Amino acid sequence: MPLNLATKVSDLGIIGRRLAKRLKNLDIETVHDLIFYFPARHEDLSKITPIKDLRADETANIRARIELIKVRRSPVKRKILTEAIVDDGTGKLKIIWFNQSYLGKILRPGDEYYFSGRLAENGASAELIAPEYEKVKTEQTHLARIVPIYPLTEGVSQKQLRYLIKESLPAISQIYDYLPSEIINQFELMPLGPSLNEIHFPETNAILNRAVTRAKFDELFITQLLNKKIRYDLEKESSLPVNFNAGLTKKFVDALPFKLTDGQRKAAWTILRDLGQAHPMNRLLNGDVGSGKTVVAAIAALNVALGNAQVAFMAPTEILAEQHFRGFAELFEEFSITIGLLTGGESKILSRGREENLPRKKILKRIGAGEIQIVLGTHALIEKKVIFKRLALAIVDEQHRFGVEQRKTLRARIAEEDKMMPHLLSMTATPIPRTLSLALYGDLDVSFLEEAPKNRKPIITKIVPPEKRSLAYQFIAKQIDAGRQVFVLCPLIDISDKTGAKSAKDEFEKLQRIFSARGGSASGGGKYRVGLLHGKMNSRGKNKTMALMKAGKIDILVATSVIEVGIDIPNATVMMIEGAERFGLAQLHQFRGRVGRGEHQSFCLIFTESKNEKTAERLRAMLSAKNGFELAEMDLKIRGPGEIYGTSQSGFADFKIATLYDYAIMKQAAEATELILERDSGLESFPLLKQKIDEHRSSIHFE
Ligand code: ADP
Ligand code: MG
Repeated sequence: MPLNLATKVSDLGIIGRRLAKRLKNLDIETVHDLIFYFPARHEDLSKITPIKDLRADETANIRARIELIKVRRSPVKRKILTEAIVDDGTGKLKIIWFNQSYLGKILRPGDEYYFSGRLAENGASAELIAPEYEKVKTEQTHLARIVPIYPLTEGVSQKQLRYLIKESLPAISQIYDYLPSEIINQFELMPLGPSLNEIHFPETNAILNRAVTRAKFDELFITQLLNKKIRYDLEKESSLPVNFNAGLTKKFVDALPFKLTDGQRKAAWTILRDLGQAHPMNRLLNGDVGSGKTVVAAIAALNVALGNAQVAFMAPTEILAEQHFRGFAELFEEFSITIGLLTGGESKILSRGREENLPRKKILKRIGAGEIQIVLGTHALIEKKVIFKRLALAIVDEQHRFGVEQRKTLRARIAEEDKMMPHLLSMTATPIPRTLSLALYGDLDVSFLEEAPKNRKPIITKIVPPEKRSLAYQFIAKQIDAGRQVFVLCPLIDISDKTGAKSAKDEFEKLQRIFSARGGSASGGGKYRVGLLHGKMNSRGKNKTMALMKAGKIDILVATSVIEVGIDIPNATVMMIEGAERFGLAQLHQFRGRVGRGEHQSFCLIFTESKNEKTAERLRAMLSAKNGFELAEMDLKIRGPGEIYGTSQSGFADFKIATLYDYAIMKQAAEATELILERDSGLESFPLLKQKIDEHRSSIHFE
């Protein structure tokens, strides 16, 4: 069968057949998918060194002939050793592989190969340890060139994936460039076909750069075009206008235990103005962890509820939904507003100061009758059975974008007679560059909370070496004695793997042993109380634990990443992170954001067992970055310019390839977007582009 874009991976020879299932984990099913599976980065192995010039402890790339190869069993550890002597005309070198006896059959004396590996000193002589190898050919795939390094999945090796992708590349000739040629010419872009070849197997670094630039441009351009289209479509929809109740809003704000920051005041004001319109608001509230987004959302929700319309408030986890339910219950104590909670595990209602667990069905009925004004929950809120009566506003926490599809789903959840597009407010701490928000998020209006509330002190962050662990525990004890609380964050729930990463259950038991030996004055002269929280607990268990923590009845809460986002315990002042190397910087920043949310000086203690220099550098960034934005920038710098998929970890919203530094390309993409839309806003004369946009649109779900 001739190769084409739709050819299944399983039809690509023995390797394809063997790996087809595993490659599904990477969303790779066809030749097309392989072509668009970009490397994470490249490694430049193009420089070949003569054997006589090699140095110990460095990576050696050589081209040499095998003189001799033999397989033997080592007497000591009964390992199988494959040993070879190679010669490149400038010198001879010994190579050793462990437990790969088949190499004795594959590699033949007399043949010439490239080898790449670490050169180790062994007494007087040096040897190459377990190097990669590839026979010298007219064109190399794995060595002696700029080599692509792909993100992998279990059971798939770089070599195998490289082989499959290389096999697929001829099908590129069947791909049409969807960018109009005037755009390609004006911005001097590499045409799509060559750019796809070069992004995998580049000839030179300069050509690779051009190929990556093309990929970034496409990503930014397609996103911007789609966003503009979404905005345009939204403007044609109508929504329920919400009146601004100035008197009661003032009463609410005056009753707060703090003064709003200017940012909060301005954001709230803008949102209330938007809500007054008969067209849907599509606004993003962007502010770093702890900047106080919730109270802004509360002001919006209050006005909707006072106007006797409904609010749906969605949080990414049950714990966070419950926290917001509690928070709103308190904030709206003086107002006669009925609040509901609906998650996978819980359903309850708070009305006239009385809280009541009710069966799901009853809650649904009351929502349908419009008797509950503010419904908080998880995505359970947009499940089929939920029908709102007068839904005017949807608030989505910890998510920067609400997909077009989700928005439609939401509208479908409104009773027939009131069907209108709800206003939307999404909230996130994801760093978004202010100057570019307009271009990048053309469908959204963005409000920024730039200043932290006045009562905050910067969090003191320390990387704690293993030998100082007991000092850290003493420090924690002191904080607890002073009335504060502590989080201990672990990468795992159980000791489920062999990597030796800390598990929450183990740490919980260990800390109970350590801390129950001490008396704690904060806990009424008794022992320190240690709690445990992880994702496999049921909702009731989780909520109970969080309630105890909130009430100050737990001193140390050992948790997994279930508390990554949103959790607000202003009395907690220490965040201790175990196995920090296992988390991305954006995630670590979120964890740290669980403390420093009140007036007390807070601390973040970072523990790692890793000795990797890159990891150390990454963790050090936590010490110097003042906010999420700076951290994202540092993350990118550490990753370096060779990275293609560089940003998902740093949390640069939406983009896989483009980074915060791609200013110039962003501007060009914005210009190109304007050019195209001016020419033909319906894209009718650019059918390939239109098709691409539609594909992209259907691939966006919840991010
Ligand atoms: P985030 O933006 O991370 O969602 P929250 O809304 O949870 O932050 O607010 C963090 C904490 O700061 C909460 O305990 C909240 O009550 C408090 N807070 C909010 N605004 C202010 C303010 N203007 N002054 C003091 N504290 C505030
Ligand atoms: Mg929050």
